[in-house]
Amino acid sequence: MANTVCLFCSLGCELEIETDGKEAKRIKYLPESRLNQGSLCPRGNSLLELLNHPARLIAASERMEDRFVQIRLDEAIAKISDRLKGVADSFAVIIGANATNEEISLARSLGGENFALGTEPQDLDILLGLSKEVSYGTPEELSQSNCTIAVGDVFTKHPALAKRVLEARYKSRDNLLITLDTKNGRTSWFADYHVQISPGAEALALAHMLDPSSFSEALGEASSALQDAAKRFREAEVGFILISGGFGQIGDGAACAALACRLAKSCPGRKYVLPLFTYGNVEGAFKSVLPHKTVAQIIEEIYQGRIKALFSFGYDLLSAYPHERVREALEKLELLVVSSPFENESAKLAHFLLPESVWLEREGTVLTAFGIEHKLEPVLPPPGDAKSDGELIKALSQGIESAPVELKEPKSIDLNERVSNLAASLGGERLLVFQSDTMNFADGSITGKLSWISRNSAPPALNISKDDAAELGLEDGDEVILKGDGRELRLPVKLSQLLPKGVLSLPSWHREARGFPIWKMDAETGNFIVSPVSVSLERTGIGHEG
Ligand code: SF4
Repeated sequence: MANTVCLFCSLGCELEIETDGKEAKRIKYLPESRLNQGSLCPRGNSLLELLNHPARLIAASERMEDRFVQIRLDEAIAKISDRLKGVADSFAVIIGANATNEEISLARSLGGENFALGTEPQDLDILLGLSKEVSYGTPEELSQSNCTIAVGDVFTKHPALAKRVLEARYKSRDNLLITLDTKNGRTSWFADYHVQISPGAEALALAHMLDPSSFSEALGEASSALQDAAKRFREAEVGFILISGGFGQIGDGAACAALACRLAKSCPGRKYVLPLFTYGNVEGAFKSVLPHKTVAQIIEEIYQGRIKALFSFGYDLLSAYPHERVREALEKLELLVVSSPFENESAKLAHFLLPESVWLEREGTVLTAFGIEHKLEPVLPPPGDAKSDGELIKALSQGIESAPVELKEPKSIDLNERVSNLAASLGGERLLVFQSDTMNFADGSITGKLSWISRNSAPPALNISKDDAAELGLEDGDEVILKGDGRELRLPVKLSQLLPKGVLSLPSWHREARGFPIWKMDAETGNFIVSPVSVSLERTGIGHEG
């Protein structure tokens, strides 16, 4: 039995895995775990398959024109080092935020100024908005919360946290769970108050809770419910604000986090803000090496020709951002090295593809929800030639002189400007938002390979409210063309009870949907902005007659 954690989200649920030394055999659930108290969601329950998966990459390969040829790992490293000589002063490193703190530090040293963390854009936004003066609280305190405000659909993205939240909610009749969400998601099913807000308006809702005179017009009917929620939060002895971002899941992660901290600080009693991230070790990664650049900035520099070689460790750039500009940027590279446990979209463009272990096969430390540190021990040795990011980075660093990099505190965000801009940008007759499901992690490039999850994930469809469907004469399964900002996407519709009129949603792991938002870089944070997109619909005639 080996102790380990699930990093399919930042909750970091604890478990034990039994192996026979070659294969993972059984999960042992740990009711004594402070974090998940023995629960695992479908993603956590699929960890055995991640270890035993027959499609895991076990050998290095080199792209020869349009096909990959397997080569020995040491040969691949030697060839990469050789090719790197021509572009040694213009290469960048991106590492997925599921790597260990130690690996991320190594990647940072290798990349120097040209280093970025691979994660969902809102993960970093939320971190940038948090205030050090407000703490995360502890799992035990969450069970004591008299008033919990969930921003976003926390139970869908971090299902195992529901146990603590609901324990608190049902402990006393007076305890409350309040949700601020665009749709009626899994968290709001359990909420005492569900404040349904317009897409992207979460930060305005929090600003309104702080100061009822602000944005009341923009928030419309939600205003009085928000003021009531603010009153109950203020009166609570123990209160938590949970913020869960992702790919376009909430309007402005940085503003939400900053306003949540202000609200918590302005209230008496014990008030906490607990951020929850898509990638497992975002928190540790951010603390280990404050990133100089964002993925968006690195992509832009590749596009402009300033960066000519890229090492991408454990991050599928093209699934994360399936945008033409990203593809064009990657195609311009003189050298693209991708390490991954599975084949993926970015790997198809790589010059070298290196087999990578998963975190369950590595040693190191990670930092998960509530700031809890875990020491990882390998559950099993990685298959074939697969190596950890740390081992690959050490091998690739031979002969590269890395200049020492100064760690910097991130710039604080200009909250007033952000919130005013946000208020001005809201609106549109029909807005497209993104939603997670419990099955897929981030862009789905790893979880999509797991059989249980791929069998149970519904094919992508555009979710539409019953009112919108009636207005447009649509029924379940009818095909539409979704249009927005010069882009089009053809797909069937699915009628949803959970969406309000005027809001359409697509799963955040759907590749084409992820490519739909406008390419825009936030000047302040350098991150991609994935805000709600104003769209229109057209029937193709495929579907029901009439
Ligand atoms: S809630 Fe998060 S950490 Fe826990 S099992 Fe699910 S994906 Fe893993």
